[in-house]
Amino acid sequence: MAEIQLHNTLSGKTEPFVPQEPGEVRMYTCGPTVYDYAHIGNYRTFVFQDLLRRFLKLRGFKLKHVMNLTDVDDRIIANAAAAGKNIRDYTEKFVQAFFDDCKALSIEAPEHWVRATDHIPDMVQLIQKLQGKTFTYPGEGSIYYRITKFPNYGKLSKIDLTGIQAGARVDNDRYEKESARDFALWKAPKPGEHFWETAIGPGRPGWHIECSAMAMKYLGETLDIHTGGIDLAFPHHENEIAQSEAATGKPFARYWMHAEHLLVEGEKMSKSLGNFFTLRDLFAKGYKPSALRLCLGSTPYRRQLNFTFNGLTQATNSVERLRNFADRLQQGKFPAGKQEGMSARIFKAYVDFDHGLSDDLNAARALAAAFDLVRDANIAMDKGEFRQGDVASVQQFLSFFDRVFAVLEDNDAQKLQALGYSSAQAGLGDAEIEKLVAERNAAKKNRDFATADRIRKELADRGIILEDAKDGTVRWKRK
Ligand code: AMP
Ligand code: ZN
Repeated sequence: MAEIQLHNTLSGKTEPFVPQEPGEVRMYTCGPTVYDYAHIGNYRTFVFQDLLRRFLKLRGFKLKHVMNLTDVDDRIIANAAAAGKNIRDYTEKFVQAFFDDCKALSIEAPEHWVRATDHIPDMVQLIQKLQGKTFTYPGEGSIYYRITKFPNYGKLSKIDLTGIQAGARVDNDRYEKESARDFALWKAPKPGEHFWETAIGPGRPGWHIECSAMAMKYLGETLDIHTGGIDLAFPHHENEIAQSEAATGKPFARYWMHAEHLLVEGEKMSKSLGNFFTLRDLFAKGYKPSALRLCLGSTPYRRQLNFTFNGLTQATNSVERLRNFADRLQQGKFPAGKQEGMSARIFKAYVDFDHGLSDDLNAARALAAAFDLVRDANIAMDKGEFRQGDVASVQQFLSFFDRVFAVLEDNDAQKLQALGYSSAQAGLGDAEIEKLVAERNAAKKNRDFATADRIRKELADRGIILEDAKDGTVRWKRK
């Protein structure tokens, strides 16, 4: 097995990954801010985190992974107040939607889901610790962090602090590098907004202190890996470092990993451009959860992912190719014995797969390892050279692959139904149906009945009934 190399934003280098405790990884990932439905950009980052945790598990590490739900921040406070709801009531729907979406995308549950609103006392304690060490000062009922007191401020995002005015403050949770200032650890209550009565006064936590407090509570003062999307490097993660390291005097996280953003057709996703998609938007258009997972996970995480419908259709076809191959293996009748060279070919697939993922989680390389094997084995089957004695080993490779990529199981229809889509709602467009019918016809012609049956079943799951006429023509209709 190759040495695992991960790119660390902190050092700016790709480094061998060695956790503090042999065999165990303590990882914190910043979860969604539940002020609305999460979008496919968010899920790009969450799928990357899932591939990472699954790969580390595959390599034998025991995972201690914490993911938070930011259920209090500026946007939530504002939206909840506008809706006349308390925070918990306002966020509940989006928390549930997030869990449902994670299930749909086969994103594994971390060892701990933690909600910010369940950890207010931990945040208060951490702020008190910072007060004791004089890293804070009060201002109009809020408490601010004095960044000039922390000599390493900026070490993660490499911001230039010259010209920063001591004592200038920022109250927003999210701001640009140009406005690096003292930030709020604790915010004074505003009329009509929710607040907590605490030992440091009434108010609510700033966004950054939430993650420092929850990460250290569950994972100790030094984590192995901390991840999020690239937009979180500044100010969120920079401020997490400043808070945590000032409080403990120890390094907060050893490896910082950041996923690049997802763009849609080359543009930043935004509601005003009409290119903003939640998972639900895509499922309602008839796309499958497995295809979306593959589409989001197949671009290496440090490259921008340009999401296109063409790409999503390609991912749909890729999932189909894998599943058809798995069916062909399962149902095919091959001559007994082993094909010369096939064991070595399978071994190469394992090596390539592992090298890909060990190389800073290069998902594209790992996928290529699997698809190359599928292609070679399919060719061998077409030529009649593939042997029954190799079936189990190829199947083992596929399961190994799927422990990370998790797209092989044919459960999209059930997932969509669990999300409340009827088969008709998760409906297919006419062109897509015609294409599938043509594929089924071709499969039947090639006597590949496994594929033909799979397509018939898939169409049936999506509410399409096929009628095979005696003259060989096929008609379809919606249920
Ligand atoms: P938020 O709910 O805004 O806190 O974001 C949740 C996660 O999604 C964070 O890790 C963000 O960095 C990440 N994220 C936000 N927008 C995008 C995007 N367009 N592409 C990839 N990741 C994103
Ligand atoms: Zn965070």
